[in-house]
Amino acid sequence: MNESNLELQQHLNSLHFDLVKKSETYIGYPNCQLLDFENLSPFLNLTINNVGDPFVGNNGMNTFTQEKEVIEFFGHLLKLEQDDLWGYVTNGGTEGNLFGLYLAREQFPDGVVFFSEESHYSLKKIVKMLGLKCCVIPTQPNGEIDYSELDRAIKSLKHYPVILSANIGTTMKGAIDDIKKLQCVLQKNQVSRSYLHCDGALFGVMLPLMEEAPRVDFGCAIDSIAISGHKFLGSPIPCGVVLTRKSKIHLVQNAVEYIKSFDSTVSGSRDGFSVLVLWQVIKKLGVQGLTDRVLDCMEMTEYTLKVLRQISWPAWCNPHSNIVVIKKPPVPLIEKWHLASEDNISHVILMPGIGREKVDHFIQDLKKSKSRQPLQNLTFRSKGEVHENPIANYL
Ligand SMILES: *Cc1c(COP(=O)(O)O)cnc(C)c1O
Repeated sequence: MNESNLELQQHLNSLHFDLVKKSETYIGYPNCQLLDFENLSPFLNLTINNVGDPFVGNNGMNTFTQEKEVIEFFGHLLKLEQDDLWGYVTNGGTEGNLFGLYLAREQFPDGVVFFSEESHYSLKKIVKMLGLKCCVIPTQPNGEIDYSELDRAIKSLKHYPVILSANIGTTMKGAIDDIKKLQCVLQKNQVSRSYLHCDGALFGVMLPLMEEAPRVDFGCAIDSIAISGHKFLGSPIPCGVVLTRKSKIHLVQNAVEYIKSFDSTVSGSRDGFSVLVLWQVIKKLGVQGLTDRVLDCMEMTEYTLKVLRQISWPAWCNPHSNIVVIKKPPVPLIEKWHLASEDNISHVILMPGIGREKVDHFIQDLKKSKSRQPLQNLTFRSKGEVHENPIANYL
């Protein structure tokens, strides 16, 4: 069925209207809401394809130069020395996790992957795809991996290489697995063959920009990290970055004559447009601009906790996290505000672009729903204080 240009435009207008409307009450998913990429529209009428290894390059219609600059920016942020830097722009955090664990498997084909039960759902799929054995470790109530359970599991699987996938922010509770503690467990068990991947979809960029946040970078001997581009950085197209050490890349590198490059990425043809999006973000904001955005998010997180406390709505937040976990509201509110929910909890995520007005509007809605369904009084975390048993105690 052919549509006239007019009909087509009407459909697009009404779709656009609906999406804009939804975006006005979108606080449950970790997407930066400050997007400004219309200046890049001329590039949409070009087929930009970053097929191959950005560090090898070729003279095709690509944005390899910008891609390398993006990777170098993150390499610098994550303390990876320039001469041991490798990475590429992926189509999201999932591809970054797949790449990291693929590299790990090539290094340790008989390795066992350890990750916590609150890890992203992509992990289970990835270990299946890679045919790896895995061991899912219980978490503490705040969502962080249980180190003594990990210790026990590693002990019971002695002699296998250990592939660890650490959560640098779990999806639901924003819990950060402590790299130092993970490494202590490895040392304690005298594990000589190990690989440490970090799933830093959201906090992978934020933590290095925060003062006094736990360190997650190549300076503390991680092997790879995956970060989503459409989360903290902000992109209209899902994308991400994955970084690793150049010295490992030979494990997955194949020369392909007709692309005049190496095949070392998960995807063949790759989006060169989202590379420009990320490149523009780092060029416009730089470390300082991104740091300011992190500070704004953390300030809004404190504000949100405060106003939730004022209406006595059970709420809690991990340290260094902008994910506020709340008691699950009624379904109509979950739908209206796009709240990710699991069991008896939901969360709101204070991403760049979410101001007091939006939070206040949300709080008004919560308050209204509460008058219909009274809650008991509860206590809350005060600034900087970590509660022993947060979720279990509060909800
Ligand atoms: C969002 C998320 C992912 C997946 O990222 P995509 O970019 O959606 O593929 C992986 N891990 C965690 C912890 C996430 O929150």
